[in-house]
Amino acid sequence: MRIDVLTLFPELFDIFEKWSIVGRTIEKGIFSLNTVDIRDFSEDKHRRVDDYPFGGGPGMVMRPEPIYRAISNVKSEESKVIYLSPQGKTYNQRLANSLSKESHLILLCGHYEGIDNRIIDNYVDLEISLGDYVLTGGEIPAMVLIESIIRLLPGALSGEESYVDESHYNGLLEYPQYTRPREFNGFHVPEILLSGDHKKIEKWKEYKSLETTYIKRPDLLEKRNLTKMEMEMLEKIREEIKKKY
Ligand code: SAM
Repeated sequence: MRIDVLTLFPELFDIFEKWSIVGRTIEKGIFSLNTVDIRDFSEDKHRRVDDYPFGGGPGMVMRPEPIYRAISNVKSEESKVIYLSPQGKTYNQRLANSLSKESHLILLCGHYEGIDNRIIDNYVDLEISLGDYVLTGGEIPAMVLIESIIRLLPGALSGEESYVDESHYNGLLEYPQYTRPREFNGFHVPEILLSGDHKKIEKWKEYKSLETTYIKRPDLLEKRNLTKMEMEMLEKIREEIKKKY
């Protein structure tokens, strides 16, 4: 997979591209990251890329020509052009899964008041938002997309790491995790995890995953087609919670 990031701040990616799984996947040749400075496509002698909005209003808007030239410079038939925008589709694991199957993504980062709408209307395939709040630029959202997508590429995670159990991959949150010491400030690791009984441990993980989701994100369960076993577990979880409070 290849990802091109079109940005006014390519230097923000200097450390990012060397960091942890991002750096490892690049080194392994699983993924390549290219940053494109949109200012390189400005014809202005001061490399300006913004201008006043037609019709008035606060702030500046990124002009369409440098963005169009930057897109054209990296675009091929396989490319999907994504504009990071607070007006886009809210990002989630399902979107990450589907984008991880693409071979080339172009991530367009806006700045100032955003970009000329003719780019969005005519040259962008998908607008993606990180959530219902406004950031200064699309660079951090672009990093979030890249990080979440490359974890899903075959060979990106090492043998011990896996995304399959992780929160959201299968529509549930992950079960609680514990490490050494067995006792910390008088608090104990659940006995079952020390039992060595792998069948029981797997069952416990399923139960705890469902329980965590029920407590922290019950909305996720509303969208889920629960299996018979999950329904029975949920019944038990509700009873346990009732007993506690
Ligand atoms: N004027 C725009 C609006 O109200 O819709 C907001 C522009 S914002 C200050 C500047 C840039 O930050 C945007 O062009 C976009 O690339 C990025 N951005 C801001 N919030 C974002 C979010 N929630 N998700 C993704 N990108 C965002």
